[in-house]
Amino acid sequence: MKKIAVSMLLIMTMIVGILTGCTNSAPTPTPAAPAEAKTSADVLIIGGGGAGLVAGITAAENGANVILVEKMPAVGGNTLISATGITASDTKLHEAAARPFTKEDHFKKTMETGKNLADEKLVKLLVDSSNDAYEWLLTLGLKYKLDPKDAFWIIPEEGHYGAELVKALSAKAATFADKLEIRLETKATELVVENGKVVGAKVTNKDGKEQVITAKSVILATGGLNNAPEMIAEFNPKYAGVNVEMTTPGATGDGIRMAQAIGAQLKDMEHFQMRPLSLNGYWFKEVIVNEEGKGGILVNKDAKRFVDETMKSLDLASEILKQQDRMAYVVIDSDVFATKDGAKMIDKAKGVKADTIEDLAKQLGLDPATLKATIDEYNAKNDTFGRKTFGKVATAPFYGAITKPSSHYTMGGVAINESAQVLDKDGKVIEGLYAAGEVVGGLYGAGRVAGNNTLDDIVFGKIAAKHAVGK
Ligand code: ADP
Repeated sequence: MKKIAVSMLLIMTMIVGILTGCTNSAPTPTPAAPAEAKTSADVLIIGGGGAGLVAGITAAENGANVILVEKMPAVGGNTLISATGITASDTKLHEAAARPFTKEDHFKKTMETGKNLADEKLVKLLVDSSNDAYEWLLTLGLKYKLDPKDAFWIIPEEGHYGAELVKALSAKAATFADKLEIRLETKATELVVENGKVVGAKVTNKDGKEQVITAKSVILATGGLNNAPEMIAEFNPKYAGVNVEMTTPGATGDGIRMAQAIGAQLKDMEHFQMRPLSLNGYWFKEVIVNEEGKGGILVNKDAKRFVDETMKSLDLASEILKQQDRMAYVVIDSDVFATKDGAKMIDKAKGVKADTIEDLAKQLGLDPATLKATIDEYNAKNDTFGRKTFGKVATAPFYGAITKPSSHYTMGGVAINESAQVLDKDGKVIEGLYAAGEVVGGLYGAGRVAGNNTLDDIVFGKIAAKHAVGK
């Protein structure tokens, strides 16, 4: 996988750009809410990331009056930082390149990555709809190619995948301005239920005023909880203290809380995609510290190793989070730096370089003698953490950078059926309530294939909206 997040600065620039129409050929944003804001619609959508925008477009396209509330000053959510591309199977691109990635491959890869915990019916739906989703993106004017290495990846011909996608979705949404109102800085706080049916939601608008928006159907598209460390720790204490380097601010699990409050069933809440090596909105491959013969080490603030760096990434993240300040330092030599991944980490994590280990330690604020002793031990393959294969930190110059493990994707969320209707704890439909996107649980089980996430935004955003308007 080579999903690379863009820096938070770039993200904010893109958000502002999309909002103000200042990015290259950015769409005119959907007009702001009228002075007298409407308080009812056919469909209320909560959240304006990929899933919410797709649902909004689809509902409006099918004739519904739609209000979409987005709590941030701009749409996009974590969809905006989807860096690489979309996963789809049996597309024209695969056929043209004679590089098959079949529906069967797609299904198998999705199930296996999720440790076979995912809901097979939902996965089948995702896979069977992936070519249509891909073709739909083309109708928005987006252009893609197959990744040169991995046939499951469909990547943009140019530009940043998530930014281009959000731009195109915003442009399409703007064409339905008479039907689809996007209300920014408006946060949904509670679902309103009457006689067991969801009939709207309480929202707080940008002036802090509370109101209820009623609707025949409500679609939750609030994304995950990557920016809610306490909530992550509640669902999986292994990740207590997790950092938030890999998310946009709006991903605070609101939809899960709102659904939970009315008795929705949650699934797979303990599973997250954690990145042990991450900083400044980027994540880095663990190969930097675990490659046999080459990989460097991780040390804590005491300049000591504390872990077998070759352990599984989820466990590695957890071990780093137990160290002082929930972080560690990556220390590598020039051979690792010479690799693409090594150089990238030192660059993006604003690492330091030194001719000696002692000088490197000083620059990192670590005790020089301890770091030297730690590295000598490691180079002599003396290890008390069970590391079986070793790299080395031997060839000057040396490099070091901070890493702060962060959540990259929330696997868990509200349970849905194949019509994207939210289910209660007994598996019964909660009338009037739908969910799409990262807020959904059960679609991935324990792990996600990169690129399936924006695919599911499209597939389930459309399914939810169509069902909500009776199509
Ligand atoms: P997905 O890929 O599932 O669409 P995203 O993270 O891209 O997920 O988008 C989710 C969007 O929902 C974000 O823009 C986020 O700010 C928004 N959001 C989250 N909670 C609320 C809420 N309570 N009210 C309104 N918008 C919300």
